[in-house]
Parts: sequence; structure tokens; C-alpha cells
Amino acid sequence: MQTPEGCRKIGILGGGQLGLMLAQAAERLGLETLVVDPAPDAVAGRVAKHLANDWLDPAALDALAGCDVVTYEFENVPTEALAKLAGRVAVHPAPEALAIAGDRLFEKRFLREFGLEPAPFADVASRAELGRVVAELGLPIVLKTRRLGYDGKGQAVVRETAGLDAAWQRLRGDALIVEGFVPFERELSLAAVRARDGEIRFWPPAENRHVDGILHVSRAPAPKVPPRRRAEAERGLRAILERLDYVGVLVVELFALADRWLANEMACRVHNSFHWTIEGAATSQFENHLRAVAGLPLGETGMKGHAAMLNLIGAMPDLAALAGAPGIAVHDYGKPPRAGRKLGHVTVVAETAEELEARLRRVLAVAGDRELVSPS
Ligand code: AMP
Repeated sequence: MQTPEGCRKIGILGGGQLGLMLAQAAERLGLETLVVDPAPDAVAGRVAKHLANDWLDPAALDALAGCDVVTYEFENVPTEALAKLAGRVAVHPAPEALAIAGDRLFEKRFLREFGLEPAPFADVASRAELGRVVAELGLPIVLKTRRLGYDGKGQAVVRETAGLDAAWQRLRGDALIVEGFVPFERELSLAAVRARDGEIRFWPPAENRHVDGILHVSRAPAPKVPPRRRAEAERGLRAILERLDYVGVLVVELFALADRWLANEMACRVHNSFHWTIEGAATSQFENHLRAVAGLPLGETGMKGHAAMLNLIGAMPDLAALAGAPGIAVHDYGKPPRAGRKLGHVTVVAETAEELEARLRRVLAVAGDRELVSPS
């Protein structure tokens, strides 16, 4: 495929399953990938060239600087590594995006500025301040670390005053924020991709079910989305993309209440709730992210029908019974099993929402359901 300025070699910081699926998409586009991830068994290394060095290691930085463009699939890569690379090679998305998304306090202020209102929040530096903020917000609250939290880690929901001390003791080693607990009806996510020339495309929003703070099932298109609300969220995301001169995929997670949507967080990378785009959309989030950073024209983001994604967590189930079943695709990341670890996912596609639910029920029966999943 013809890329501008001969952009053929993509450097990726982070080599987990997101890096693996980026590298798989790159292969089909005829692009080369180099992944830097200190883990010797980083799964992206199955497809990409892999350097098992620290992100700040000079040899790793030199190798990345020798690529035509650098991107990242991991939110906790040191911003210092991106700063060191930025003068030597094009880095997309803009390092500023990672600095904002990597700190919940900056992130929530930023989202608010662009009309994506978050839950009420405040930073808290002491136990006394926590008491004052809780008196103002009311219980329940969620206490969260500002940095390095993901999949529900680094956070505590507190429902009664008696629980505040334990939550504070557990998390106080880090800088913290408090958020009002949102009694949402459901969780949604919205993904956009912006090309180097400024073109922006959106995938239909996904509806997400979490179990124990980890994404369990995503469905798309999310049913019963009021067009006005979707347009407002898209407007906010578009403004963020333009303000950051962002190139690549950006996702915002949303809490849907009866009368409004609140923004939870933004991810400046491809996102678990859009893995279904590989089989369910005209162009996947992985391919469009690469197209954007490599300076290629974006692909269509429309869906072929309905799609769902089920995460396979902790242990790979025996899915042999699903072999040959229509509309079902299994992705095994090839990781050693460990409690709470994302080992793979299953995508289900169907022409209608009813058929999708029937196929998803079949997958859940074989994969072992983590909750009783019913269509909303
Ligand atoms: P996070 O790490 O912030 O994405 O949180 C993980 C999950 O915890 C979210 O997807 C929600 O299911 C839940 N959660 C986080 N913050 C809140 C909140 N303020 N109110 C209610 N649930 C929350």
C-alpha cells in the first residue's frame, strides 16, 4: 500500500494483545512493526519484531527513532520515553494526549472543558480533606489513584462512612481523587479515529458490561442510543481530537443515566470495547489506527450487522464445540493463564440483534458465563 514519505515501519511501545492485533493488521497492510516491551514473552512478539528492553533504554529509543512513525498501545509507558522520541521521529497520538489520559485529575478537567461532563470529582491530599469532600458529595463515592489504575485496580467504592478509613489506608500511598458514585443504567464507549489530514470517523457506540471492574461483554451498535446524545458526545470527542491535533484512535468511556451521559475516562489508544471491529466493522480499530499514523486514507467504519465481544479471562475455556459455528471468531492471545488476565476474546457477528443474542448465549454456555447476560 502506498504511504506518504515511504512510511513503512511502525514502532510500537507496548507488546500486549493490543500490540499483537496492531501487528496483525499491519501485516495485512504490508507494514512492518517493531515492538518495545520489557516483558520477554510479550505476545506481540509473535508477529512483530520485539525488543525486550525497557522503554527508556537508549538502544530501544534508537531502534524506535529508526522507524518511520512511533505509536503506543499501553497507557503507562513513561511520558519521558515519548518526549525523548518526539524530537527524533513522528509520534502519534500526540504525547500530550497520553500525559492527560494518564492522570485522572487532568483527564477529568480536560473532558469537562470539551463538554464531556464527568462525575463530580475532587483531588484529595489528606484524610481530613477526604472527609470534607465526602460531606459535600455524599456517599457512595469512589476513591481512585490518579495514576496507573486500570481494570478497576487502584480504586475503592465506599458506601458507608465507616469504610472511609480502610479505603484511605489502602490507597493513600498514591495521589488520589474522589468521584461521586454514578448510578448509571449502562456503560457505553465511543471510538473515533483521526487521520493526519484531519479527517475524523466514528464507529457506532458500544454497550459494555463489566464484572469485577473488568470488561466482560461489549455489544454494538449499542441499542436505544438517543441520536442527540450521541451527536453531543461525538462533538466533544471531535473537539478533543482537533485540540490535540490527534492522529490515531481515541476512545471515551461513558456512564449512561436516564437523562444524560457522563464521561468516565478517555483512552488514547485502541480499546478492548472495540475488538469486535475486526470482524464486525468494515475497517477495524487496529487497521484504522495504523492507517492514521502511517498517513494512509482511513477505511470505512460502518458495521456489517450486529456484533458482540466476550473477553476470555483467567483461563482459556475449551471452545472446540464452537468450531464451525457461524458468526463466531476466537482470538487466543497465546498468554500463560493467570487469574484476572485477559487471555483472548470471542467475537460474535450476526445480521440481526436477535440472532446476535442467540449466538452470544451459545458462546457463553460453552465459555462459562461470569454473570447472567441478558439483552438490555
Ligand atoms: P475505571 O478504571 O475508572 O474505568 O473504572 C472501572 C469500572 O468501575 C467502570 O467501568 C465502572 O464500571 C466502575 N466505576 C468507575 N468509576 C465509577 C463511578 N464514579 N461510579 C460508578 N461506577 C464506577
